[in-house]
Amino acid sequence: MSNGIIHSNGNGVPAKSSGPVIPVASRLKDGRALAEDVWSIYNVANLPADCINLGQGYMNFAPPAWVKKAADEALEDVSANHYSHPKGRMRLRKAIKNQYGPLLNRDLDVESEILVTSGANEGMYSVFTAFLNDGDEVIMFEPFFDQYLPSIVFNSGKCVYVPLHPPSESKEGATSNDWTIDLEEVRRAITPRTRMIIVNTPHNPVGKVFTREELEGIAALAKEFNFLVLSDEVYDCLVYDGKEHVRIATFPDMWERTISVYSAGKSFAATGWRVGWLIGPKTLIAPTLAACTRIVFCSNSPLQEAVAGGLEQVKTRHFFETQVKEYEERRDILCAAFDKLGMKYALPQGSYFVLLDISEVVWPDDYNFPKSLDGRGRDFKACWFIAMEVGVSSIPVSEFYCAEHCSIGERFARFAFCKDNETLKKASERLQNLGKYLRKTE
Ligand code: GLN
Repeated sequence: MSNGIIHSNGNGVPAKSSGPVIPVASRLKDGRALAEDVWSIYNVANLPADCINLGQGYMNFAPPAWVKKAADEALEDVSANHYSHPKGRMRLRKAIKNQYGPLLNRDLDVESEILVTSGANEGMYSVFTAFLNDGDEVIMFEPFFDQYLPSIVFNSGKCVYVPLHPPSESKEGATSNDWTIDLEEVRRAITPRTRMIIVNTPHNPVGKVFTREELEGIAALAKEFNFLVLSDEVYDCLVYDGKEHVRIATFPDMWERTISVYSAGKSFAATGWRVGWLIGPKTLIAPTLAACTRIVFCSNSPLQEAVAGGLEQVKTRHFFETQVKEYEERRDILCAAFDKLGMKYALPQGSYFVLLDISEVVWPDDYNFPKSLDGRGRDFKACWFIAMEVGVSSIPVSEFYCAEHCSIGERFARFAFCKDNETLKKASERLQNLGKYLRKTE
C-alpha cells in the first residue's frame, strides 16, 4: 500500500553502496573544497607553537582603538544587536557613500548602489549566484585568490584562466608590476559563454597594482564582448610608493558593467569581523542583493556600526595615509631579509604579500613530511620545511593556480607582512637560517 512518496528500491530497504551513507554533492569535489586547503594545512594549529605566522593574511595587531570603541558603543545600542536591512545599515551605507563617492566620481545612491556583505567573499559569492547560469564562464588571472574557484563552481560557473606572467628569472630588482598580462591572451580566452572577468587589484598573492593602461585594455574587451567586471579591490587602502590605485568603474561606460568589492577587514585590521561591501549600478546591485538576502539575509549588525564609525573618522585622523607608511615599513623589513639572503622576489606595490622564489631551497631526501602534503607541489614541501626548520610559516603559491598550471606556482612561497615590526624583525632574523638550505651555485 502506498500513501505517497517512496524513494527506496521498492522493498523499503535503501539500496546498498560502498560509499558513505549520505553521498556529498559533486560540486564539493569540483570546487576543490574536499582537499585540505592551504589555510588549514599551514594553520597555526598545525605548526609548532613558536613558529612565526607569515602564512594566512591576517594581522597580529588589533583594529584601531577608536574603531573598537565604535564597536563597544554599538553593542550598547539595542537596535544594533538585531537584524539589519539586507542592504546594510544606513549609517554604514552613508559612510561608504561619503568615502567612496569622491573616489568613484559619483554621487552614490545609498538605496540602490551600495550593498554591505558578510565579508568580501560573501559579496562575490552573491554576485556569482546572481549572474551565472549553468556553464557561464568567468575569466580570472592566474595566480588567483583561491576562494574564487569554489565560489564560481558552486554557482555552476566555469573558471577560465589567463596567466599573469612572472618576471624573468634573471631580472634583478623586480617589482610586482613585472608580473604582466597579455591582452591578446585575455581576448583569446573570451567565448560566447564569457559572462564576467575578475580583476583583483592590488593583487593577492602577487602584490601587483594594475596600471591604468592594463585596466583600459581589460575595459575595452569588457565593452566589446559585453561582460561584467568584478573588480576585487579589497586591498585598495594598501598601495605603496605613491602608486595610483585605479578604479576600473570610473572609466567611460564602465560603471554600468562593474561591481567593485571592498573589505573592512583589510582597511581596519579586522579580518574576523566579516564586513565588506559592493558598489555598482542599481542594475547589478539589485540582483546581487536578491541573492545575498537569501544567502545570509543580512550582515553582522554591531560591527557594521563600528565600521561606519571607522570610515567616518579616517579623513580627520589621516588614518589610511599613516597606515600605508606603516605597511611600507613592514614590507621593507621583510624584503631586506630576502635581500640579505640573496633570494629573489618581486617588491610588492600593493596588498600585504610578497612572493619569494624558493626554487633554490633544498631539503634532505628523507625529510619527514606530513601525509597532508602527499601529491602536492614542491612549494608545499618547501613551505612546510621552512616553517619547521626556520620557524616562519608561509603559503605555497601553487594553491593559487588551477591543477593544470600549478607547476608555475611551485616556484614561490607567499609571505604576509601584516604583522608588527617586532615580529617581522624576529622573522627576518630566523629567515637568515634559510641560507644553509640554499642550493650552492658554482
Ligand atoms: N585573504 C587572506 C589570505 O589570502 C585569507 C584567506 C582565507 O583565509 N581564506 O591570506
